[in-house]
Amino acid sequence: MWGQSPHNRPIAYPPLTPPLFVSGTFGELRNNHFHAGIDLRTNEEVGKPVFAVQDGFVSRIKVSPIGYGLAIYLDHPSGHTSVYAHLDRYDGAIAEWVLQTQMKNRFWELDTLLPPGLLPVKGGERIATSGNSGGSAGPHVHFELRETQSEHPLNPLLYGLDVVDDLPPVLRALYFQDALGTRKQVPVATPEGRRLLDTVSFAAPLGVVVDAEDLMQSNGPKNGLYKGVQKTSNALPFGYCFDFFDFADGRAVNATHDAALFAQTGKRMYRMYRQPYHPGPSFSPSGWLPSDAASTGRIYASPGEIVRAIWRVEDVLGQSDSVWAYLRCVQASPWTAPELPVADSLYTSRWSLAWGKESFYRKTDVSFREHSDGVYVHWVGPAHSPLRLYPHRIADRIQFLVWATPSGKKTWMAWDPHGSKPFLEIKEPGSGKWQTDLTPPSHQRKNPWPASLAPGRVLSFTASDTESGMAYYGGELEDGTFVPVSYDAKYKSMRVLLPSDLSPGAHRLEVVLKDRAGNVARLFHSFQSVPSSQGAGKP
Ligand SMILES: [Zn+2]
Repeated sequence: MWGQSPHNRPIAYPPLTPPLFVSGTFGELRNNHFHAGIDLRTNEEVGKPVFAVQDGFVSRIKVSPIGYGLAIYLDHPSGHTSVYAHLDRYDGAIAEWVLQTQMKNRFWELDTLLPPGLLPVKGGERIATSGNSGGSAGPHVHFELRETQSEHPLNPLLYGLDVVDDLPPVLRALYFQDALGTRKQVPVATPEGRRLLDTVSFAAPLGVVVDAEDLMQSNGPKNGLYKGVQKTSNALPFGYCFDFFDFADGRAVNATHDAALFAQTGKRMYRMYRQPYHPGPSFSPSGWLPSDAASTGRIYASPGEIVRAIWRVEDVLGQSDSVWAYLRCVQASPWTAPELPVADSLYTSRWSLAWGKESFYRKTDVSFREHSDGVYVHWVGPAHSPLRLYPHRIADRIQFLVWATPSGKKTWMAWDPHGSKPFLEIKEPGSGKWQTDLTPPSHQRKNPWPASLAPGRVLSFTASDTESGMAYYGGELEDGTFVPVSYDAKYKSMRVLLPSDLSPGAHRLEVVLKDRAGNVARLFHSFQSVPSSQGAGKP
């Protein structure tokens, strides 16, 4: 299904000038998602040329203050879509189309599908300049390859993306979790290979968590695994292989890694046993049988029995590391089929809460009660699909339910009493409270804006809305001409992009900021437009 032939390499041209260095791998365990692409390093700089990997056409443009920032999607005749994200700017005809569309929409943000024929590209053609836009934690290019029809992200390293990879992945440690508690074991090198020094005593069932990473160059970043497998002498193998996955399974990363170990170590590791409900890219080659202890990845044995186990991690090139051990069972609880999570609902006088069997990875108790001005929901462990909270009645003026989690994170969830969505989605335990947002966005100019400005100049300021959040930002000149304002949410940075064909003489600019509750803030600036030679340099 995912086969490739040398005559049909979906990635025929590198997206950046080689050599390509990787700072994030496909499938890497991230916060609530598997990494859907490859992060390519740009020497911690913005401004590297980005190239189309194959002939095709621009099928989607997304411009956003968060997430992928400035992104290009190209569809190719091979049935693949390539994605380039966190860009600084678009090139040539793409840049012209984006500006025209922003002017027409009177908004900088865009998420538009384009038909074939409108913006064709050639393989190897420059399409953009690399950047740090959106949710990027430093300059780089996020590159993705998807199967166009299913939109499944594919591992680009299997489809012709050539990167520098001189080193095998490394298995650092194993965490043994059983009734005797969690114990860390560090493998040692012996003449026969890598093994654990002592036989490990365990109380069955035993679950093993693997601390491992893929290294590509010495002193390079620690990347996520391509493949990790556990094999034992008395059960079926269990593990992970990141060839492709389904975006719908993104949150299943919370079944793959261990939340308690993450809290303790700050590292997401690979759980080598399955949760009762375990979507996502794990595998158990003979399939998962809820009635069968041998397919769970948990290690079962009788007291006195010795189990031989091996853990192996591998990169796309087949470079690998493995560790083996003898495990001695000292006591055992009998195998019982896991209790699968079930759909359920709870009620108070003013609220209902409902969830499906896919909401949790295991059977989970949920507590639900009202408090004076809202509602409280609690459970232990991660949720997979959100729980649905239904208020029985909403006052018309109140538009938001503010969801506060125990860690202090607050989410303003919009409620439209006249809308079609009669519920709110709860992804984390917490406490909800109705609140109105009466405060407009705040803004600040670091430096005063000059009184003379050249066409095409950029005016910067910072802006944010700490309550319901920024919904609209844009500028207008005295004659109604729209002036795009770009936004980078992580830096709270806004940039007014004055037109390059600004007429000479006096102008008046008005910038409007609007939050999700409709509160408005305005900035005004009167200036003279002067040719760029008359001293109106960069701010
Ligand atoms: Zn990325």
